[in-house]
Amino acid sequence: MTALILDNVCKSFGPVEVLKNINLTVEEGEFVVFVGPSGCGKSTLLRVIAGLEDATSGTINIGGAVVNGVPPAKRGIAMVFQSYALYPHLSVENNMSLALKQEKQPKAEIAARVAEASRILSLDDYLDRRPSELSGGQRQRVAIGRAIVREPKLFLFDEPLSNLDAALRMNTRIEIAKLHRTLKASMIYVTHDQTEAMTLASKIVVLRDGRVEQVGAPMELYNNPANRFVAGFLGSPAMNFFPAELVGGKAGEVIGLRPEHLRITKGGRLPGTVVHVERLGGDTNVLVDIGAEDNLTLRLFGQYAIEPDAKTELDFDDAHAFRFDMDGNRL
Ligand code: ADP
Ligand code: MG
Repeated sequence: MTALILDNVCKSFGPVEVLKNINLTVEEGEFVVFVGPSGCGKSTLLRVIAGLEDATSGTINIGGAVVNGVPPAKRGIAMVFQSYALYPHLSVENNMSLALKQEKQPKAEIAARVAEASRILSLDDYLDRRPSELSGGQRQRVAIGRAIVREPKLFLFDEPLSNLDAALRMNTRIEIAKLHRTLKASMIYVTHDQTEAMTLASKIVVLRDGRVEQVGAPMELYNNPANRFVAGFLGSPAMNFFPAELVGGKAGEVIGLRPEHLRITKGGRLPGTVVHVERLGGDTNVLVDIGAEDNLTLRLFGQYAIEPDAKTELDFDDAHAFRFDMDGNRL
């Protein structure tokens, strides 16, 4: 069964159209990531799916049933927020079991589900603690546990890692990926972080200004972006863009090149001057001024003795170059 079908979903707040004709299918067991810049409508779309906002038009089908007008608690979804939203006066165990108690589930069933969730999330040793006695990562695990015990048809995550520091974010990201493999559940995950999108998703939905720009597997979008926006949004450092004339191309076109596809070559078609070097240990990022609006970023694997102000010549394989028109459409 299909986990979710959105058919022409629109959402306006007063005169402001925030979501514009969103069409999307989430298959059972898929991990779908909504990614896009801040303010593009990701949270609004998730809230419309959850039933926390009504769609202005269009239909929302969860697990085979149209749920427009159905309250959130009856949609078979569970949502995890950035802010954890735990009850401070309740223990970890009671935070996790509360919704099941409210549903009047049998005691043994509640105990079994909480035990299973705390085992999966390694929370066994913390069941008696209050949220204030936990680290940020542990609190977020409790929030995820509270979703797991409800055995939802669809998990909804809204930027669950944004409050964590970088190291913890990576650990928790890996835990969420494992969790998805363990539960084989359908999940929708919202983030503005392209690394999270690339590493977690089986399918990425790139949103911009309330519209879907492109849908596809991470490497499909990376290797075959539909337009300049998607090309520039996925990948770090971001794709380089420069006028095609600089390499003998047509006026009015733009070339896009990933930093890893540029190389320093004597006699290369892009002469320039090094303006900055970022040494990351494993990689070296070199920024080069080629007389275009933006500096080019070149990503070299390993460590290089290259310094600012050095004259350099860059080149690339034409097979790696993307061509865009002035409106950002892929050619
Ligand atoms: P994202 O999660 O991608 O950062 P949001 O979905 O939160 O973006 O917001 C999308 C747009 O909708 C923003 O311009 C925001 O100001 C607007 N918006 C969100 N909620 C409301 C609301 N309740 N009333 C009016 N405008 C809203
Ligand atoms: Mg948001």
